[in-house]
Amino acid sequence: MCGIVGYVGPSDCSGILLDGLKRLEYRGYDSAGMAVLQDGGIEVRRASGKLSMLDALLREQPLSGNVGIGHTRWATHGRPSEENAHPHRAGNVVVVHNGIIENYMELRSILMKAGREFTSETDTEVLSHLVDEAMKGGEGVLDATRDALKRVRGSYSIAVFSLDEPDRIIIAKNSSPLIVALGEGQNMVASDIPAMLGFSSEIITLDDGDVGVVTASECRIFALEDGRPIDKQPIHINLTPAMAEKGGYKHFMLKEINEQPRAMIDTMRGRISMERGAVLFETEGPDGDFLAGIQRVHLAACGTSWHAALVARNYLTRLARVPVEVHLAGEFDARSALTGPHDLFVTISQSGETLDTLRTHREAREAGMATLAVCNSVASSLAM
Ligand code: GLU
Repeated sequence: MCGIVGYVGPSDCSGILLDGLKRLEYRGYDSAGMAVLQDGGIEVRRASGKLSMLDALLREQPLSGNVGIGHTRWATHGRPSEENAHPHRAGNVVVVHNGIIENYMELRSILMKAGREFTSETDTEVLSHLVDEAMKGGEGVLDATRDALKRVRGSYSIAVFSLDEPDRIIIAKNSSPLIVALGEGQNMVASDIPAMLGFSSEIITLDDGDVGVVTASECRIFALEDGRPIDKQPIHINLTPAMAEKGGYKHFMLKEINEQPRAMIDTMRGRISMERGAVLFETEGPDGDFLAGIQRVHLAACGTSWHAALVARNYLTRLARVPVEVHLAGEFDARSALTGPHDLFVTISQSGETLDTLRTHREAREAGMATLAVCNSVASSLAM
């Protein structure tokens, strides 16, 4: 789940959005973009790769306007690329989204049958079409967003902007964080506190099931389900950027230890089908059963990832009841190992760039094993 930033107020916002996104960089991302209300239209700039690419694009094709939304994407559905970067636009609506829309395939085919054209491979794009469709049916942007979200299953924090109501940003949250920072005659939205430090220390935090309307002068929160107003008192935060990045923990290590349940949920969300009782992978297609018939698992990694593999061996043996072997990637030769078509070869690397791990992954593939990579960088060599 990556970064969302939005601004509405009297200032020119593209610099504010870019700065906010930069302060969320520590979360990792593979592409970035922003949409700004400019000269009565919506202008979108998106770039694959680091924020410096978006920055360079904005220097060539600057944006100027008082309302805008920005995003750093960490791809879950669709390659990291310019077309898949957010914001996604349909008609007069633009959307940025953190999270996963689990039923996007089903919604996408319904929308396509209704004549809607998709320009990305993401799950997110259905949201922009759903909101636009509801608005074309006569609804305002708040109700259209509520209706769209009622059709969606999954996790999200979103910011929506429509040309038809250009003084506001609509926000919503379910299982992914979103906050509003209240300024003087201007407001910001963001997925995490560091993005708004220095802007304001008065914060409203959304809860799951909340939808909000943010204008320059106010922030109103409603219940997604029935639209009833929810009274939210702002809280005052007193954090330095460094403290905020550490999420209130004393050290990054403590933060990461405490984030493990969240990281597990984020990794597996959208990859587990409760209906089918199956784990799904992107490579296997809707009916594939990539893991069926696997009789032995190899885990290969270096350093800390190798230690993680030792822990994983205990869980896999206990829960999946399959024999598991752990290899140091630098010392393993998949070509001469006694392996067969019923072996699954799993490589683990935080960066996705560990050379020995990459080599052993390639060799396992060449040896005909089913391979799976676990890494923390979606655009890395291992992930690609
Ligand atoms: N699922 C969305 C995508 O792949 C959002 C990913 C994110 O949280 O950055 O575009």
